[in-house]
Amino acid sequence: MSAKTNRALLRTYLRPEWLRFTVLTILLISGIALQLVGPQILSIFINTVSADGAVATLKWLGMVYLVVAGVNLAVGVATTYLGQDVGWRTTNALRADLASHALRQDIAFHHLRTPGEFIERIDGDLTALANFFSVFIINVLGSALLLAGAIVLIWLIDWRAGLALGGYVVLTLGALLVLRHFAVPAGVLERESSATFLGFLEERVAGIEDIRANGAGHYVLRRFYEVLRLWYHRSIGVWMRRSVIWSTTTMLFALGYSLMLGVAAALYFDRAISLGAAYLLFQYTLMMQRPLDLLTQQFQELQRSLASIVRARELFAFQPTIRDGPALPRHVAGAASMTFDHVTFAYRKGEKPVLSDLDFSLSPGEILGLLGRTGSGKTTISRLLFRLYEVETGAVLLDGVDVRQLRLGDLRRRVGLVTQDVQLFHATIRDNLTFFDPAISDDQIHQAIATLGLTDWFMRLPRGLDSEVSSGGGGLSAGEAQLIAFVRVFLRDPGLVILDEPSARLDPATEALIERGVAALLRGRTAIIIAHRLGTVRRADTIMVLDHGAIVEFGPRQSLVDDPTSRFAELLRVGLDEPVSAAAPSAEVNV
Ligand code: ATP
Ligand code: MG
Repeated sequence: MSAKTNRALLRTYLRPEWLRFTVLTILLISGIALQLVGPQILSIFINTVSADGAVATLKWLGMVYLVVAGVNLAVGVATTYLGQDVGWRTTNALRADLASHALRQDIAFHHLRTPGEFIERIDGDLTALANFFSVFIINVLGSALLLAGAIVLIWLIDWRAGLALGGYVVLTLGALLVLRHFAVPAGVLERESSATFLGFLEERVAGIEDIRANGAGHYVLRRFYEVLRLWYHRSIGVWMRRSVIWSTTTMLFALGYSLMLGVAAALYFDRAISLGAAYLLFQYTLMMQRPLDLLTQQFQELQRSLASIVRARELFAFQPTIRDGPALPRHVAGAASMTFDHVTFAYRKGEKPVLSDLDFSLSPGEILGLLGRTGSGKTTISRLLFRLYEVETGAVLLDGVDVRQLRLGDLRRRVGLVTQDVQLFHATIRDNLTFFDPAISDDQIHQAIATLGLTDWFMRLPRGLDSEVSSGGGGLSAGEAQLIAFVRVFLRDPGLVILDEPSARLDPATEALIERGVAALLRGRTAIIIAHRLGTVRRADTIMVLDHGAIVEFGPRQSLVDDPTSRFAELLRVGLDEPVSAAAPSAEVNV
């Protein structure tokens, strides 16, 4: 994709729609012709009247005029419909490709960009492009054809009249372009501050709990006024400019009308043209206003659309550094084995490594309890295992194969993860459990719920699997979110499970529920439990203590417990095993 030019990119998405484009062009041209024919009929009508022609002819002319007007209307509707249709079809294909391209990018790529930026790139830009295909093509092509057609028709009647109309069109077009040129920068500033305002509002609303709890309402409100004031001033500036431009334009058109009326009258009284032709000249001048307006307006749209094509290409040019391994024909089931082979890793090249020379293995079915201060690199281990990031030196092996050799899909099916904060979607419980996979039947879900010992919890849901979860998990407790994450992982039946325990503490009832869930989830699987509470590592076979990305202790849990000089034994002695006092909340994460 990266080598493609703008034109090649457009061609890829336009080609499948060529038939629609052809029909659109035909409709467009017929529409223009009909628009130009209307006044011609009236012109003949006027000439017939002034020559005292037959009433029957006039009636006929009236009928024809009505039919032409009706057909014109229908063609107009069809053109607009087809234009929108073509515009959205082409850009939707592009939108889908861009979205899936973005989803394939490295996690690091996403860390560098805000969700807002993506929405703007994948949706905002392409809406501009959709407009380009539909509105722009119709407006610009249509307007240009209409202008040219009118000038030619008038020229055929009298070249002086044609020259006058042509001159009028060119001058007005130039004047409008200059005028609008002044309006654009102000408009950009205004949109920018409206975006700032909305962004500000969204962020504060999302943080409402923290803001309230910290009594920061006044500060937020003060900032709110500042942002609002800027927007207000800029809006007023923009509207002032717009109204000046609007009145100038109106005057310009009025001036043009009087001029052309003068020309038509002069030619008529000179007997150079008929009364009908004079009417035609004036009527065509009136008809020029809309295309002139549209042409100059669309000139800016064109620039915006070109910019969005460039940005789409930029996005396509990004390639993930993490690529799928070769497709190995593998059917591994059951508990997985896993090895970190002298792994060193830093999030950014050249920085101090977050993990240094990590070297350990887990055999199938083994449960590792992973302990360490906050920031010691526990979560990073799970990210490497998922190949969300690439190791710098060394290798991570799953079932004896380097993860770089595996298909990402296979790898991520083989490893299940329950993260520190579970992401819930605004959807039903069912969709939240299956990750929108319709292949998973309700029976399977019910069975998973039962196996994990969550039937009681499930029975309390108001509408069973159809209960709605609001976005961000509102309405569900942290514990319940964890339970959902368990079922999710269980349904995918991975060979290795990573539990990155939430550091928030749960009420005893939920905790007991989770304990049971964990036991069921880990049965027959290899596991890494990243523990913030010593209680959870009681089920571990092996203990690993990390400090600043290095292993400071690794061994069978029981022998560490028995060895009074071990760090683990010391941790147990310090009494972190059971409820941590509220006065020392930091101790909880510093196990
Ligand atoms: P916690 O107990 O708080 O969950 P952790 O042991 O899981 O901590 P990690 O999340 O693995 O710690 O982080 C290890 C180090 O890497 C920290 O110093 C952290 O600041 C850094 N780090 C984590 N994620 C990133 C990232 N995406 N980019 C850069 N640095 C990161
Ligand atoms: Mg962590």
